[in-house]
Amino acid sequence: MEDKPIHNIESKSACKATDNICLPDTHWPRVVIVGGGFAGLALVEKLKHKEVQVVLFDKNNFHQFQPLLYQVATSALEPDSIVFPFRKQFNGYKNVVFRLAEVEEIQPSSNVVKTNKGNIHYDYLVLATGTTTNFFGMNTVEENSLGMKDIRDSLNIRHMMLQNLEQAAITCDDEERDALTNFVIVGGGPAGVEMAGALAEFCKYILPKDYPEYSSSIMNIYLIEAGKELLSTMSNKASSKTLRYLEDLNVKVLLNESVTNYDGNKVSTKSGKTFLAKNLIWTAGVKGQFPEGIDAKHVVRGNRLKTDPFLMVEGYENIFAIGDIAAVITENTPKGHPQVAQTAIQQGKYLGKVLLKLMKNEGVKPFEYKDKGALATVGKRKAVADLGKFKFGGYFTWLLWSIVHLMSISGFRNRLMVGFNWAVSYFTYEKSNRLIIRNFSKASNSKSIANSQTAVKNASVND
Ligand SMILES: Cc1cc2nc3c(=O)[nH]c(=O)nc-3n(C[C@H](O)[C@H](O)[C@H](O)COP(=O)(O)OP(=O)(O)OC[C@H]3O[C@@H](n4cnc5c(N)ncnc54)[C@H](O)[C@@H]3O)c2cc1C
Repeated sequence: MEDKPIHNIESKSACKATDNICLPDTHWPRVVIVGGGFAGLALVEKLKHKEVQVVLFDKNNFHQFQPLLYQVATSALEPDSIVFPFRKQFNGYKNVVFRLAEVEEIQPSSNVVKTNKGNIHYDYLVLATGTTTNFFGMNTVEENSLGMKDIRDSLNIRHMMLQNLEQAAITCDDEERDALTNFVIVGGGPAGVEMAGALAEFCKYILPKDYPEYSSSIMNIYLIEAGKELLSTMSNKASSKTLRYLEDLNVKVLLNESVTNYDGNKVSTKSGKTFLAKNLIWTAGVKGQFPEGIDAKHVVRGNRLKTDPFLMVEGYENIFAIGDIAAVITENTPKGHPQVAQTAIQQGKYLGKVLLKLMKNEGVKPFEYKDKGALATVGKRKAVADLGKFKFGGYFTWLLWSIVHLMSISGFRNRLMVGFNWAVSYFTYEKSNRLIIRNFSKASNSKSIANSQTAVKNASVND
């Protein structure tokens, strides 16, 4: 059956007693979505032009394509190629409202969300807030290293890297130069592997041209993984090929090893090794993030929200979770689904259908995840793939990886920019801009993280 498109929405401002965020007045049920990542955006797309008011809250005014963050970090792409403004995406979506605000608390008993800009009520609430970097309680590592979870992290990594390479050219102290040019990446999942490959290519192709004062052997890249193999969620074939590709690029891969301490200059590992390194990039874990107000008994491993097979958060009747934050625990998925973009997109689309059916009192089928396979790239011409029973790697896999990623980026202009950059870089090995636009310091970065955490805590205490 065809969905009926909605036109001529009455748009006069009217706020309920509890609401102090202005929204168009409609008589339709209100679906409030927190987070416009892959999951939230897929849900909006499903609900656009339907008889429902969709309110999307995000703390950023843009959607970001996390799989290519490492390319921004290594100057291969500019940030605006992989982020896309929500308001542009929603042009012509008359039942969709975007509000730039951070949701701080939910009050399920009164169906209200509290944001840093004001409050509104909801009929249905969808949490699509994703994850944040998990440092597993290692404070020294958290204070002195950089995670790679959003576009700001990528730009911080880029600035840290370029500043340290400049400082290395200035210093006369050999030990300091070593520390400034050594890079340690922690975590051998796709993000760590792709970052290590891209850095290794930077070292091989850019360093000799831009920094003729160094030999390329000055930059050491270590990839540290606690498990016995890289890309542990992929096949053994993908893991071993990836290891070989990285070693060919001179990345020093340490398996069965973990970081125990980092003071900003020296990395210490569980087996007793130490390295001098002023660049430590942490990709070793994530944990769910969501606003206050959800009963702790519904929070499971990885700080995810336990949902039923219809993505409804356990214990609530009108609160749903989708994407990385959701753990659909069933007999077949005791740990929930993989935290990847495909899960988020499929859950967003599925929930759109479910909500529309719920509003019409129609029955719904449980969520079923369709595994479309996994791809990871190592440098510019190599990639590995597990597609069903087919496991392969090499140059054509890299072409496949490029096409899949290019087609998944939001916005024609962004696709064009990324495609153009990749084509130039394919033939010239040239990266886009290696500019230090602002002075980056780890101290001010960790101070601003601490301040924002305190601000969130204070806000909930004062409420
Ligand atoms: C470096 C990196 C590389 C990756 N590579 C791949 C890959 O190659 N393939 C793959 O399939 N997956 C990859 N992933 C995983 C993939 O990006 C995630 O699975 C996916 O982004 C999850 O989507 P989501 O919508 O659940 O959350 P996210 O995309 O993280 O979106 C969450 C949104 O919620 C917003 N938000 C959070 N809290 C609040 C709040 N309180 N108030 C308002 N807004 C809030 C955030 O601003 C964000 O926009 C990668 C992830 C990273 C970090």
